[in-house]
Amino acid sequence: MAQTKKTKSAKTKSAKKAPAKTANKAKDIKYVYDFGKKTDGDAKLRELLGGKGANLAEMARIGLPVPPGFTISTEVCTHYYANKRTYPKVLDSQIRKSVELMEKQLGKKLGDLKTPLLLSVRSGARDSMPGMMDTILNLGLNDETVEALATSSGNARFAWDCYRRFIQMYGDVVMGVQKLPSEDHDPFEEIIEKFKAEIFPKQKGEVDDSKISVTQMKELVNRFKILVKKRTGKDFPTCPWEQLEGSVGAVFGSWMNDRAIVYRRKYGIPAAWGTAVNVQAMVFGNTGKKSGSGVAFTRDPASGEKVLYGEFLTDAQGEDVVAGVRTPRPVAQLKKVLPNPFKELVAVQKTLEKHFKDMQDFEFTIEEEKLYMLQTRNGKRTGLAAVRIAVEMVKERLIDWKTAINRVPADQLDQVLAPVFDAAAQKAADTLCKGLPAGPGAASGRVCLNAERAVEAAKSGKVLLVRQETSPEDLRGMIAAEGILTARGGVSSHAALVARQMGKVCVCGAAALEIDYKARTVKVGKKTFKEGDFMSINGTNGEVFGGELKTAPSEIIQVLVDKKLSPKKSRAYQNFSKLMKWCEQATKMDVRTNADSPTQVANAVAFGASGIGLCRTEHMFFEGNRIDAMRQMILADDEKNRRTALKKLLPFQRKDFTGIFKALEGRPATIRLLDPPLHEFLPHDQNSQRDLAKKLGVSLASVKRRVEDLHEFNPMLGHRGCRLGISYSEITEMQTQAIIEAALAVQESGIEVKPEIMVPLVGFAKELELQVEVIHATAKKVFAAKGKKVKYLVGTMIEIPRAALVADEIAKTAQFFSFGTNDLTQTTLGMSRDDSGSFLPNYTEMDVVSANPFASVDQTGVGQLMEIAVKKGKSSRRGIKLGICGEHGGDPSSVVFCHNIGLNYVSCSPFRVPTARLAAAQAAVS
Ligand code: PEP
Ligand code: MG
Repeated sequence: MAQTKKTKSAKTKSAKKAPAKTANKAKDIKYVYDFGKKTDGDAKLRELLGGKGANLAEMARIGLPVPPGFTISTEVCTHYYANKRTYPKVLDSQIRKSVELMEKQLGKKLGDLKTPLLLSVRSGARDSMPGMMDTILNLGLNDETVEALATSSGNARFAWDCYRRFIQMYGDVVMGVQKLPSEDHDPFEEIIEKFKAEIFPKQKGEVDDSKISVTQMKELVNRFKILVKKRTGKDFPTCPWEQLEGSVGAVFGSWMNDRAIVYRRKYGIPAAWGTAVNVQAMVFGNTGKKSGSGVAFTRDPASGEKVLYGEFLTDAQGEDVVAGVRTPRPVAQLKKVLPNPFKELVAVQKTLEKHFKDMQDFEFTIEEEKLYMLQTRNGKRTGLAAVRIAVEMVKERLIDWKTAINRVPADQLDQVLAPVFDAAAQKAADTLCKGLPAGPGAASGRVCLNAERAVEAAKSGKVLLVRQETSPEDLRGMIAAEGILTARGGVSSHAALVARQMGKVCVCGAAALEIDYKARTVKVGKKTFKEGDFMSINGTNGEVFGGELKTAPSEIIQVLVDKKLSPKKSRAYQNFSKLMKWCEQATKMDVRTNADSPTQVANAVAFGASGIGLCRTEHMFFEGNRIDAMRQMILADDEKNRRTALKKLLPFQRKDFTGIFKALEGRPATIRLLDPPLHEFLPHDQNSQRDLAKKLGVSLASVKRRVEDLHEFNPMLGHRGCRLGISYSEITEMQTQAIIEAALAVQESGIEVKPEIMVPLVGFAKELELQVEVIHATAKKVFAAKGKKVKYLVGTMIEIPRAALVADEIAKTAQFFSFGTNDLTQTTLGMSRDDSGSFLPNYTEMDVVSANPFASVDQTGVGQLMEIAVKKGKSSRRGIKLGICGEHGGDPSSVVFCHNIGLNYVSCSPFRVPTARLAAAQAAVS
């Protein structure tokens, strides 16, 4: 490579000075791994060769038809970025050796004027990042080799087609001829469209590329070269080695392009991993009708059904299939078109699953009826498909049940609980057209025709991103949108792949849509929708509707929560329930729920919750007319008046707790005493304050005064949590009395009860001691009055750093700890949980934080405090019960962290219980 060459003299100089041993060692490092007849790597070398490189090597090893090539390792990428974008000195000679090996195997030569070897250069990170990095195909062509290819193949049109493709790709990727902000289209595509309009003036809509003659193709090549020169000031490079160097550099460079960075951030892929580069001999799907290219999955990635699923195009190269420019045909049709390669493909499908033991997503090319495999990887799939495939692969004895648990990404499980369209609403809706179902679910939103506007519009409502086809540049818009609708492209188009992975609803290839980017309209038949109008899509069957549609619960919710669907009638439910059973078998941690009402408890129990981890009693004070009694209590100016108001609240609370204990049917309930600052319960506008004064028979002035008295500059750090119970112990008394009386009553009815009273915001051991005294004294009184007893526990939240640091002192009194990681994060980071929205997104963009710390535990900071608290808590009370009830309790990576530090349970909102159960099981089997 030129850069390497430039450094050659430097190398000789420094080699003289360097000890011989070191120089030899650097020479020995292997950066290039061959595959083909000689194969150096295998699937295990994923870190070094990237997913694509490792699997190409593996496929070559198991005898699948892989064109020969080599992989430049990820270590080169690391070196490249650590050394101002330069390569290790030995790389050049290693590459040349590998190219020679390919030349020998194929009887072709790079740049040869008789039988030129053409190459593809592709990225390949450890985890696949579909479409995010760059690819160059047909490398090695110039004005002379194109003629040689025309002669050697006997197909001039094909040779010139390859050449114009090469200039287009290389021009875009390596030389930077890209869409300007003022343009809506790729400039090369624009030239093609204009050229087609010139040569076929009468034809409207899609013009088949095969209709372009050799002479016309040559003219297109000429126009492309002019564009490159105009935009870059440079001639298109003719030397194949220079082309190879440029392409390898571009692929390594694309590791740091904007869309790859955005993608890595979304999927938590470290920048340090780097990408490998795969250089492979070209095989051609564009030589005519007996050739073609396709993308297929060994199972349906949307539903999980075991069918060969995918699509192909005849007389096309691979990028045509995913680019969405021509709409491909379902792979099943290949059986008629090219029966022999189809038969081979079915055999490959079986071999791949048997060998890789997972659903595979593979790329193939057929050149003159001969099948070649260009890639295989574990296929991205929807949550629904992931569950089905995992369960069915166990049935087929391809994997065991523990492996199946790890096959479903925990954060994808909520997709199977996501709503679908309400059946009646869908029936009555205005069906516009149908596309391909590419990402199941239901989505309604305001139409946005470009990604930037979609991001903006999503800040104030639901958005449907509608595009001719999507490209990696649309990634931000796709993330922001509820759903994605495209006019072109098949089920393996960019839109479909990305949507599936993100769990977005997606319909693609809805050909009836006429999208006008300039007028910002979408026409379907006689109907026109402007940007901002509502449209809806059903990603399960591909239907597109005008207007906004009502949604209905998923099948699993209909079985478990609404109980309107028989479990036997839902395959989705049966698979889900099987997976949950395995989770139960594997898991060490319990999953509880944060719930404040019997209905919430019932839902959570249906999802497998093993109890309540947090009942926020303050939520109960907003129900019905009890808020008046609450406000009366707050406005009272002495203990006597406070007690009078609290007496009114007592029966309400007792009834609440009774309902909850019943719904729990013997499961434990952690009930937290009053936590928020009191001003949160008072009205702040004049009219409501006047109404309240009237109701309570006091003056408006006195209400206003009390509201002002309670005003705090930092309410989150003010008079709240146990500080309230310490100032007004009668509140703690009333709540304890309600809990114990409810527990006794339910126990009396024959249902077991396990109350756990939790004191919030403790920072000093003494605070807890004071509250525990009140709790025990009150319970004792109730036992004496009722002549009965019930077992109960008293514990505390660990939600301020001091509590974590003195956990050993606190554990002397506390029978359990529950980490309140919302407040613990807020107080450890000194970052308001309510106000950080204004700067946190920026922090994530700039990599200050790798994830939102209020969603996923900041393991290095907050996590350390948790570990200290666990250790210290256990040191003074062996077997202390430990849990978490902050929002993080439903976040998969936080759940795994909780498992690792030895918590007994996590607690989360009812609908996240399945996700947390899966994450907990995954932590246990890993
Ligand atoms: C917490 O702080 O994590 C917690 C669960 O309590 P809340 O969110 O009610 O403050
Ligand atoms: Mg809290």
